[in-house]
Amino acid sequence: MVKELVENALDAGARRIEIEVLSAGRELIAVSDDGCGIPAEEVPLALARHATSKLERAQDLFAIRTLGFRGEALASIAAVSRLELVSRTAQDDRGTRVQVEGGEAGAAQPIGAPVGTAVRVRDLFFNVPARLKFLKSDNTERRRITEWVTRYALAYPRVSFRLRLDGRERFYSPGQGDRREVLAALFGAQAAREMLALPEEPTASIRVTGFVSPPSVSRSNRRGLTFFVNGRWVQDPSLVAAVTQAYRALLMVGRYPMAVLFIDVPPEAVDVNVHPAKAEVRFREPEAVLTVVQRTVRATLLGQATPPAMDLGRSWAEGWRHETAGVPGPDWQAAHAALRNLPQPMPLQLHPRPGSEGGMPLLRAVGQVGGTYLVAEGPDGLYLIDQHAAHERVLFERLMAQRQEGSLECQALLEPETVSLSHEQAQSLESQLDALRALGFDVEPFGGSTFRVRAIPQILSALSPVQALWTLVEDFEEDESPLAEEVEARIAARVCKRAAIKAGQVLALAEQQQLLRDLEACSSPRTCPHGRPTMIHLSVESLERQFGRRG
Ligand code: ADP
Ligand code: MG
Repeated sequence: MVKELVENALDAGARRIEIEVLSAGRELIAVSDDGCGIPAEEVPLALARHATSKLERAQDLFAIRTLGFRGEALASIAAVSRLELVSRTAQDDRGTRVQVEGGEAGAAQPIGAPVGTAVRVRDLFFNVPARLKFLKSDNTERRRITEWVTRYALAYPRVSFRLRLDGRERFYSPGQGDRREVLAALFGAQAAREMLALPEEPTASIRVTGFVSPPSVSRSNRRGLTFFVNGRWVQDPSLVAAVTQAYRALLMVGRYPMAVLFIDVPPEAVDVNVHPAKAEVRFREPEAVLTVVQRTVRATLLGQATPPAMDLGRSWAEGWRHETAGVPGPDWQAAHAALRNLPQPMPLQLHPRPGSEGGMPLLRAVGQVGGTYLVAEGPDGLYLIDQHAAHERVLFERLMAQRQEGSLECQALLEPETVSLSHEQAQSLESQLDALRALGFDVEPFGGSTFRVRAIPQILSALSPVQALWTLVEDFEEDESPLAEEVEARIAARVCKRAAIKAGQVLALAEQQQLLRDLEACSSPRTCPHGRPTMIHLSVESLERQFGRRG
């Protein structure tokens, strides 16, 4: 709803848009703008279904320049709420006010008002209570609204947006044309500073501008990818794929770039009619557009980005990927690459044992492969143990046990540190402060999207407080779990992932043995807290079969 009202304001040429939301929109959504307004005699029409002032001729549908064009938004919102619209054009010296309750429009009345339009939507779904159930949790709705407004502020840097949620200002953009300022709200100040701007090519018929993250800044999900086609926010898997492809060999597996791209094509080259919510587009020549997107992003990355720093803690698999990307790596990586490229033996039956129930046999450490896997011998064959996954499991069970006993260790910082986050992240973090506290974080809101960290869990003490917090907020956005315990367990799992021994870290035999002992002591030793296997078992039997000792 916020989206539709904001789009109308943008279509009306507003330079200033103010949005006020109470109770995630259930109580009130108010959007006011200083746009062109609606002439008094057309106000009732604006609220009628299929009334749009935006299509002059039928063929305009094929070359849409405005965001709205169906004439449905206002009517459908008015049908399920108590809506008040006040509007005035510069030509009229008074405004007009209409109230609609559940689709029943009252008479239009003159009223004193500034030029522009103000729409107030109250008591959403008051007459269709069943639909209230379909609203997401308040947190989710609030986050979505903030996301929307931030995105539009990016697409329209010359429009000033102000968003207030439950009386608190959540977002403000001055409308001075500076996109980087808005980027900070979307990605946090730090990441925003590092984003690379794509070069402007004003003459091309397919123009791709905006910002992409350097390879050193990435996320664990695709939600940092935002696209606008001709000023309209779209969600399009093929655009996501094109950008991700441009980062080929520059990012670790499972990491995703961040980007805000503005793709401008002639209006007739794109069909926005595909999806009722209009979040999908169909390009008339998708290949051409995707190619330009991918090339522009790739060129920006290769031209401006420094190659990702090599630290010796990296896994061999990664080392290999960097090799193939033509980024020279240290010799040990070449060795690992060679290892990696060895011809594959006949397929082994490498079955991770099903289920995490049951313990594990006592194992004897034999050594380490690629600084990543432990090789161990058990009573019934050979075990390969993923040292990172195994350590995650160990830390996780330890942390949860300490939490249960109330003996959780945390490390107070001598100097509290402040961390500034994006609006989205700040909102998620705020809703999880209790869970964080239970796990040894002492974090408090410090105005706006800034937080102050006073203590972190002991097991993260090797990290800077800022890094420690980042490990969490990164993935918060995906969490929707209403259960406090579940939220806590997930946070704990993430903390442990960050604190665990990394792949590529060389361990002495004694350390390997200790890790195995610790793993044996776990109640679910066979999977990491995220559910991946910690070990692969090659049974004596399958070895014998592979070597032809058995038929
Ligand atoms: P659409 O945007 O698809 O035309 P809407 O139902 O959203 O349909 O709006 C109906 C009409 O009301 C618009 O075509 C426009 O003429 C008018 N209108 C709505 N909101 C505004 C606004 N903020 N400023 C000026 N005119 C508006
Ligand atoms: Mg509209």
